[in-house]
Amino acid sequence: MFKQPLTLLKGVGEKKAQRLKKIGLETYNDVLFDYPFRYVDRRTVKKISDITSGDVHVIEGIVVRKRTKYIAKTKKEMLILDVRSDYYTGEAVFFNAQYILSHFEEGTRYFFYGKIEKNGPNFKMMQPEYAPLSNTDFLSVVPVYNATNGITQAELIAIHRQVLSYCLNQLDETLPDSLIKLANLPSLKFALKEIHFPSSRETYKAAKRRLIYEELFFLQLRLMLLKLNYHKPNLPPFSLDQLNVYKGRLPFQLTEAQENVMKEISEDLRSGYSMNRLVQGDVGSGKTVIAFLTLLAAHENSYQSILLAPTTLLAEQHYENFVKLFPEVACCLLTSNITNSEKKRIKEQISEGNISVIIGTHAVLQEDVNFKQLGVVVTDEQHRFGIRQRLSALQKSLRPHALIMSATPIPRTLSLILYGDMDVSVIGQMPSGRKPIKTHFVGKSKQAEMYAFIQSKLTEGRQAYFVCPLIEASETMDLKSAEELYEELKLKLLPHKVGLIHGKMKATEKDEIMHQFKSGELAALVSTTVIEVGIHVANATMMVILNTERFGLSQLHQLRGRVGRGDEQSYCFLLSDKLSSTSKERVETLVNSGDGFVVAEKDLELRGPGEVFGLRQHGIPELKLANLIKHQDILTEVQKHIKTVIDEYQMGNLEFKELIQKQNNNLEKWFTL
Ligand code: ADP
Ligand code: MG
Repeated sequence: MFKQPLTLLKGVGEKKAQRLKKIGLETYNDVLFDYPFRYVDRRTVKKISDITSGDVHVIEGIVVRKRTKYIAKTKKEMLILDVRSDYYTGEAVFFNAQYILSHFEEGTRYFFYGKIEKNGPNFKMMQPEYAPLSNTDFLSVVPVYNATNGITQAELIAIHRQVLSYCLNQLDETLPDSLIKLANLPSLKFALKEIHFPSSRETYKAAKRRLIYEELFFLQLRLMLLKLNYHKPNLPPFSLDQLNVYKGRLPFQLTEAQENVMKEISEDLRSGYSMNRLVQGDVGSGKTVIAFLTLLAAHENSYQSILLAPTTLLAEQHYENFVKLFPEVACCLLTSNITNSEKKRIKEQISEGNISVIIGTHAVLQEDVNFKQLGVVVTDEQHRFGIRQRLSALQKSLRPHALIMSATPIPRTLSLILYGDMDVSVIGQMPSGRKPIKTHFVGKSKQAEMYAFIQSKLTEGRQAYFVCPLIEASETMDLKSAEELYEELKLKLLPHKVGLIHGKMKATEKDEIMHQFKSGELAALVSTTVIEVGIHVANATMMVILNTERFGLSQLHQLRGRVGRGDEQSYCFLLSDKLSSTSKERVETLVNSGDGFVVAEKDLELRGPGEVFGLRQHGIPELKLANLIKHQDILTEVQKHIKTVIDEYQMGNLEFKELIQKQNNNLEKWFTL
């Protein structure tokens, strides 16, 4: 670490240091790792006769005369250089006259770099970069840095050059030698020099690969260490003899995929090590029963367990289902909707050990609930939570078994980053008898036809969801649009009854509406995205999404997953009046595919992983050069090498021991924000 302040550099006083601070540069170290965001190629000097007007190039010219011109409006002097280059005469114009005047001498030759406007035998350059002919560094590939007011690119380059020449000789290599060999990487010293001031395309590429490799390496290694740290003998092995009895009481047989996942979970529970497992399965693949069986396993072994849901509505639904299926198990619901006195009573019951299964929202974890003996924590719809919550959830007690359920399908390389600290199980199969949902795009002209179709289905006894977008910036406006639609549909869908549900309603009101919809009293439900996750009404076979253009692809897939949950054919109608080309691609993807993996891949392509997975939200530090999608090949290589590193470390390789211990000591710092 080079902690020296930038004021030690030539040309950086207090004032400039303040400006640099604004763009995050305070120490030598900051500058060293402040990579250019692009480069300009200034290697060739062009003749003006060969240049097309308006292009950007380096020329060589002699300054014939310097003159200044006062501009009344800005009260500043402008500097004009009369320049001759070959047979052309031109002007180089600068606005900061006082400052630049002294850099030029009449009768001397300089390089100029910038846009050249030609007009017959004349040319003009506004604010060009420049250097005397003696400065051969000028003719190179030049970095362009993130800039700030009051500091020129030339100054930024000088600052980076100074820092680099100071630091490079004292720099410690960050990767072990054997890894550098294994991955065929250049040294850090070489890589940093080349990323700032490339000497050729090949060396630059090698440098960039090395720096990307390193970013991904440390991120992935830390995640793997997190996983290893959890994996310590902890809870006594569970006995799972009763699990089959519970399975027999389910209204259906588990699919083969569900059975396999249960087998993996059972092995974890029996191992005496804390489970740390992610279950990935598309919407409707049947994750809830997996969660229930895991809760029951804890119950059978006299441990308490929690099931965490992302929304109150979903927690309530899980609770109802669980109690219906297993009424003899002491279970409670704990959400922010519950009155304080009731909460207090429940918490007492929990700490006395009278309650076995706790179903609630993550608010449960934030409040201090004392468990008698917590053995299992199941988190539903993981993408709403982050590593941070995972840590705090696990630190609450004696590191209980942790199971996380996610409907977001993630390519394998990425899941090792997002869930690198966990084992992963996949439910790759839907319960049988499900028909693929028919998805249609509905433009304005087709709406009447769609409504007629919906009417006929409602008359047959089916039910429908209508979803309106809710956008954070103007929530009230969009709530109104859900309300408007509700008013409209009340008449349009007569004699069928319509309900309205949105996030700003009181919990009791929401419950009442949901109840009416589930019981079939309401034929249609207008809602905002509160129904996005988990809600289950098998008789609802139609999903209408308004303003489709305002939803993300994965979100649309999640919404669509609310239908197609029974034996009846289900339909999803995507409405929009104005589709941009990306929203058109989104719609096409959905119309053509019901497969969550295909949808997720496309979503990644359209939006990138940062947005799709909310990397920040996952507690993953920002990557400077590495891109989890673009650089999947390097990531795959990194993952392979890390396996080697960890294996060798465990066999006593001293070179890796130091590396790993250093990372281990800092894990908390990396992942808790
Ligand atoms: P998700 O994975 O989206 O959470 P759920 O657990 O809500 O899916 O399951 C969707 C529906 O499928 C529920 O009604 C559930 O009871 C049903 N289901 C789950 N597993 C099976 C199965 N093996 N056979 C038939 N239906 C099942
Ligand atoms: Mg679910």
